[in-house]
Amino acid sequence: MAEGGRYVIGVDLGATKILAASFDVDKGGSIKAASHEVKLRTPSDEGSERLIDSLVEAVESLRTAKAGFECLGLGIAVPGPLDREKGIVRYTPNLGLENYPLAATLGKRLGLEVRLENDVQAGVYGELKAGALRGKKTAVGIFIGTGIGGGIVIDGKLFRGSTGSAGEIGHMIVHEGGPLCGCGNYGCLEAHASRTALAKDSIALAASGRAPKLLDEAGLSFRKYRSSAFAASLNAKEAPIEKAVDRAAFWLGVGMANLVNILNPEAIVLGGGIVARFGKRYVTVARQAMRERLMPGLADSVEILVSELGDLAVPAGAALMALDHGAAQAGGDGNHGSGSGNGEK
Ligand SMILES: [Zn+2]
Repeated sequence: MAEGGRYVIGVDLGATKILAASFDVDKGGSIKAASHEVKLRTPSDEGSERLIDSLVEAVESLRTAKAGFECLGLGIAVPGPLDREKGIVRYTPNLGLENYPLAATLGKRLGLEVRLENDVQAGVYGELKAGALRGKKTAVGIFIGTGIGGGIVIDGKLFRGSTGSAGEIGHMIVHEGGPLCGCGNYGCLEAHASRTALAKDSIALAASGRAPKLLDEAGLSFRKYRSSAFAASLNAKEAPIEKAVDRAAFWLGVGMANLVNILNPEAIVLGGGIVARFGKRYVTVARQAMRERLMPGLADSVEILVSELGDLAVPAGAALMALDHGAAQAGGDGNHGSGSGNGEK
């Protein structure tokens, strides 16, 4: 590749890691595969100055990776509620930021305009414009991790809702009186089907000696119950863990049925570490539970897809949102053309 070129940068600021990537922007304004990516540990307990330093370090290493790097925009995605227009993070439980002007502070340090976005909405946007949802008009994205986040696409656009927080799919109540959720309600989808929910069941199984491989991988430390530890247990065919995973997938399917009955989407894309690691069986169980609960005639209406962009969905979406915002500000229509290709499968 020749030196120089036009790039857009996306950053996924998570509670444990910062993932930043630069994307080559073609003449039509669409992005190609990430040209460079940087992963750093998030200094989450060390104050906002230290956090900004790490973000600057990540972005600068992308900018200096190539001579003649022209940056067309920078988007940063964070969990939790935010004011997109003002670039203010309202609250992030694991990052210690509260009413913090992240976009302005970071922008000043970097000499760039910074666009702030919600992480899951950015992830769904990434899949819509450059991943599994390319070309879809009506779709839902569900990202399963520590929690469950989601995003809704209507008429080919991300649906934001009246205050910008549409898509809290994890807090759909699927079982009134079910397990307690982090949000304070009982029986949310997240409390049944997130990795955290799965870990709660599995740690008890490991402690009682019914999943020796999982115990070997993760011990009894809740934080070590990550997707890779579960995958090791599944590979060892530990039946109690298979059952717990099937149960989490079943509840995901119940949530998916509600979404399909209400929104009649063309496709649902599933993303997150669990989906990437658990593979076919997990998706099959979820799809079956969904099909059994759909209104007559809807069973074959929806495609269940798996994220194409993986970890890069969030940086890609944040980058594309910044690019589109810049184009709209410059008087363009914000359509960078990548969504118009024939992405149907
Ligand atoms: Zn909840």
